[in-house]
Amino acid sequence: MNCPQVVKSGCREKVIELRRNNPCATQSWIGLHCGVSRQRVEQILFCGGLPTSHYRTKYVCANCRKVFSPTRSISMSKIFCCRRCHYEYYNPLTACEWCGKLFRDKGSSIVARANRNKHIFCGDKCNGAYMGKHYGFAAHPENIRRRA
Ligand SMILES: [Zn+2]
Ligand SMILES: [Zn+2]
Repeated sequence: MNCPQVVKSGCREKVIELRRNNPCATQSWIGLHCGVSRQRVEQILFCGGLPTSHYRTKYVCANCRKVFSPTRSISMSKIFCCRRCHYEYYNPLTACEWCGKLFRDKGSSIVARANRNKHIFCGDKCNGAYMGKHYGFAAHPENIRRRA
């Protein structure tokens, strides 16, 4: 392979050795340990016929069950395949008790609401409508059942 001899002697061997011993090591990590840039590491590995990208473990997304390889851009990458799944997991789809509409909200907030009111509504409007019907006797005299 046609490789420019731009690398300090010793570095090349060390980079290759580190890659062989640490298939999961990133280029930056190897570069840090060999005192060369990430780009140089990539060049050395490419010239040496070694995998340039580190080995990535496969994970199963906790939300959609898809098998995925984490990327650096997603910090919670070991649990969810994407930001959307992260959001959906922590904001479960819940049905409004009043209008039946499906909506998403923070799981913790739904649990808190369920503990407090024992009812789940999509918003204040439905909450108000429910409360008005069941508890708003003064505001809605037609709801008062008079005892005979
Ligand atoms: Zn997913
Ligand atoms: Zn509703």
